[in-house]
Amino acid sequence: MPELLQSRFESESPQTALVLGLPIHLLSDYPAWLLNRAQQGQGVHVVTLNAEMAMQGEQEPSLAAIIRQADLVIPDGIGVVFYLWLRRKRIQRCPGIELAETLIQQSAAVQTPDGRPASLFFFGGAPGVTELAARRWQERVPSVTIAGAEHGYLSAEEQESLKQKLSTLQPSIILVGLGVPRQEKWILENRALCPNAIWIGVGGSFDIWSGSKTRAPEWLRNNGMEWVYRLYQEPWRWRRMLALPKFAWKALIHLGR
Ligand code: UDP
Repeated sequence: MPELLQSRFESESPQTALVLGLPIHLLSDYPAWLLNRAQQGQGVHVVTLNAEMAMQGEQEPSLAAIIRQADLVIPDGIGVVFYLWLRRKRIQRCPGIELAETLIQQSAAVQTPDGRPASLFFFGGAPGVTELAARRWQERVPSVTIAGAEHGYLSAEEQESLKQKLSTLQPSIILVGLGVPRQEKWILENRALCPNAIWIGVGGSFDIWSGSKTRAPEWLRNNGMEWVYRLYQEPWRWRRMLALPKFAWKALIHLGR
C-alpha cells in the first residue's frame, strides 16, 4: 500500500448519512479505506446497501440491526444515491461487485501485519460456480492469493469444516455470496472466526465472475438502470422489485425529515 494512502486513511472514521434510518458511510475512496484496514489487520463488516435491502430492513428489524452495526455501509444502488442527492448529499454510487473486484485486484500489493500478502476466501454461490470464479480470478490476476473457495449449499457438517478452515487460514478478505439477508446474518454469526478480516456480502457476484450470469451493459449501468436488466435476466425478481417504487415514494414523502 502506498505510504500516502496509509497516512491519509490512518485515523479516518467515516461520516454517516441516513437512508430511511439506515446508515451510509461517506467516503471518497472505499477500496483505499478498506485496503488500509486490511493492512492494519482491523476487522470490518461491509454492507452494500441498495433500495431493495433498505426496504427489507423496514420489514425485518434483525436485518436493520445488522446494517446499523456494520463498520462500513456503502451506497451499492442508484436508489440510495438518489435518496441522498434529494437531501443535497452528493455521493458516488459504489456497486458492491466493483468494490470487491478492486479489492481482489489490489490485494496482492497489501501486506497484513504478520507480513503476508492479503489473501482472499470465496464462500457462496452454486456448486462449481465459486471454484470457477476463483480459477478465473487466479488466471486474470496471477499474483492474487485465493486461500479457498466453497459453494453456498453446504451441509451442517460441511459448514463446520468450513469454519475450521477459516479459523486456520485467517484470510484477509472474505467474500460471502449467499444473497440478502442470509449473507449478512452469516457474517455477523461468524466474523469472530477471523476478527482481523474484511467481510463483505457480495450477493450473486460469483455467478458473474464465473460467467454463468452477465452484468447489465455499461450504458444501462451508467444510467441507473441496472435493475431493468436484472429483471429481464431474472423475471422471478419482479415481486422483490416492487420494493423499488415503494422506496422511491418513501424517498420523496420523507423529504424534509
Ligand atoms: N446462494 C447460496 N446459498 C443459498 C442461497 C443462495 O450460495 O443457500 C447464492 C446463489 O447461488 C447466488 C447468490 O446466493 O449466487 C444470491 O444471489 P442474488 O443475486 O440473488 O443476491 P442478492 O440479490 O440477494 O444480493
